[in-house]
Amino acid sequence: MSKELKKALFLDRDGVINHDPGDYTRSLNEFTILPGVIEFLQEHSKKGYAIIVVTNQGGIAKGEYSLNDFYEIDAYMGSAFAEAGINYIETYFCPHHDVVGKCLCRKPGSGMLEKAVHRHGIDPEQSVMIGDKWRDIEAGEGAGIRGVKVDVNQDLRTVDLGF
Ligand SMILES: [Mg+2]
Ligand SMILES: [Zn+2]
Repeated sequence: MSKELKKALFLDRDGVINHDPGDYTRSLNEFTILPGVIEFLQEHSKKGYAIIVVTNQGGIAKGEYSLNDFYEIDAYMGSAFAEAGINYIETYFCPHHDVVGKCLCRKPGSGMLEKAVHRHGIDPEQSVMIGDKWRDIEAGEGAGIRGVKVDVNQDLRTVDLGF
């Protein structure tokens, strides 16, 4: 018998989970979870979705903030999700940027999503990638995952995922 595949919601971070002021979220000070995110993720956790965050963090390559700043935000976000009973698995992030050097993970590339799909036994066909930029949608499609484009800082409770 084959192992049952999981379904997942993949989410971009900045502008989807936290308020994107227009450039970088450099430190925990600048990280504010948007209204509706916790409720939205709780609802989909109850429906059996694993929650995975997939984020470009090119500001690390550019020296805008450090890897430690990123990890500090990520730990905070993870504990906020855990406290709310959200079925959060992990964050995949790309610390690179084209101005410094090419990589295989930066969205619109699908490397991070493909890695998550394989590592966690996820069924791309039952999963969705939610992002506020077209490169998020393109990254999902490259891994066979349907994309749902939202507006930057949109309340996710107003988004229809079609299920
Ligand atoms: Mg974004
Ligand atoms: Zn990368």
